[in-house]
Amino acid sequence: MTYLSPISPGYSWYEDTVGERPAYPRLDGDCTTDVVIVGGGFTGLSAAANLAKAGTNVVLIEAHRFGDGASGRNGGQLGTGQRAWVEELEEELGFTRAKALFDLAEEAKAYVIDFSATHGIDMDYVPGQLSVVHKKRYLDAYRRHSEIMATRFGYPHISFMDATETARRLGSERFFGGNRDTGTGHIHPLKLVIGTARVAAEAGAKIFENTKALKIESRGGKVVVTTPSGTIKAAKGLLAVNAYGGDLEPDSAAHVMPIGSFIGATVPLGHDSPVIPGGESVDDSRFVVRYFRKSKDGRLLFGGREIYAAKDPKDIHIHIRRQITEIYPALKDVEITHGWGGFVGITMPRKPYVREVMPNVISAGGYSGHGVMLSNFVGKLYAETVGGNRDRLRLLEDLKIPPFPGGRRLRAPLLFLALNWYALRDRL
Ligand SMILES: Cc1cc2nc3c(=O)[nH]c(=O)nc-3n(C[C@H](O)[C@H](O)[C@H](O)COP(=O)(O)OP(=O)(O)OC[C@H]3O[C@@H](n4cnc5c(N)ncnc54)[C@H](O)[C@@H]3O)c2cc1C
Repeated sequence: MTYLSPISPGYSWYEDTVGERPAYPRLDGDCTTDVVIVGGGFTGLSAAANLAKAGTNVVLIEAHRFGDGASGRNGGQLGTGQRAWVEELEEELGFTRAKALFDLAEEAKAYVIDFSATHGIDMDYVPGQLSVVHKKRYLDAYRRHSEIMATRFGYPHISFMDATETARRLGSERFFGGNRDTGTGHIHPLKLVIGTARVAAEAGAKIFENTKALKIESRGGKVVVTTPSGTIKAAKGLLAVNAYGGDLEPDSAAHVMPIGSFIGATVPLGHDSPVIPGGESVDDSRFVVRYFRKSKDGRLLFGGREIYAAKDPKDIHIHIRRQITEIYPALKDVEITHGWGGFVGITMPRKPYVREVMPNVISAGGYSGHGVMLSNFVGKLYAETVGGNRDRLRLLEDLKIPPFPGGRRLRAPLLFLALNWYALRDRL
């Protein structure tokens, strides 16, 4: 039966290809535990799995099904480092902190790959990432970036590609060059969500679907989460709601803004297709980034961020077809079988938002389109924090993340204007 997420538009190719998946119960009655987690995406489920494996009692509630937010519906690209390039981080934070943030992201990458291997989660990992340049004027920065990564940050896996190599690896002459990263790759994200939930449950975490937190508060030294079907009392809490939290907690809402991002899947292109013959994932140099890759069965999964919410999947098809055709004119009539979207949690400086928002409650999100590996790792770092070591989580907590300007009413319209400006700049 086709399952449609009530909170994200469209039916995803991921949902279509995971087969039977277990359904988890709704919370039924009050309970007390060590840690309560709100949100069943990568952040929350990874925290639950790691806490339970360490012997901590944990209760996780998800308002809908696991992965209905961004985690089950994203582009699956792991990437390397933080969303901001290391040279930008170094300019702002100095070498030591920039290097520490880079190293943290490398640990995140290794963690995701190791976690899935250790727990028998087949997440269709395919290595390779091409970051390509859509404006000639960005070429020098990309070339410099590959050199800086190797010489200054000890990451030797990125090589600069000229226009000819880029065209050969993409099967398209649309781009002027780019970087090839052999040290990362892409995954089927919903398989990782489902696998992580299984690991959490098997380790003893009590995990619930269709259970929405109506309120979270710190009361008499306890964290109290109210749901329609019971109240959870805990010593500590993790808010892992990211772009989907609404007004549940005001500090998180002021710092993390949802923007829609949409993906289309074509029919399988066939083994002789010239499109990305090496199987890498691709992202381009636009601010409103285009990201695409082939699935295991040879479909083109093509993502482009739109600034307004396209609720109707037919809309998604139209935008995605236009974007595909710009790069692959031969695919102008290709059948698009699936169109879906989700909400990315972004912050003003495009860095993760991790904060203690009330006594003993940490909120984590705002990975700004770079959360596939980071969110999973933040879940692990949260478990580490509960276990008494907060050092690595602190690296993220210490990042300066200002709230979005405009207050509750003007925040969204101001962001809309800003994103339109960047989208326009991409075209100039
Ligand atoms: C279309 C798209 C493409 C993307 N592509 C990439 C990519 O290629 N690479 C990359 O690194 N990142 C990508 N991202 C971002 C990445 O998916 C996210 O950073 C990551 O999944 C965040 O995980 P999370 O667990 O923090 O949030 P989510 O997965 O969004 O989970 C939050 C959960 O909280 C639940 N929730 C909210 N409120 C409540 C409540 N009151 N009670 C109970 N539960 C609640 C929601 O239902 C939701 O399931 C993409 C995102 C989208 C949408």
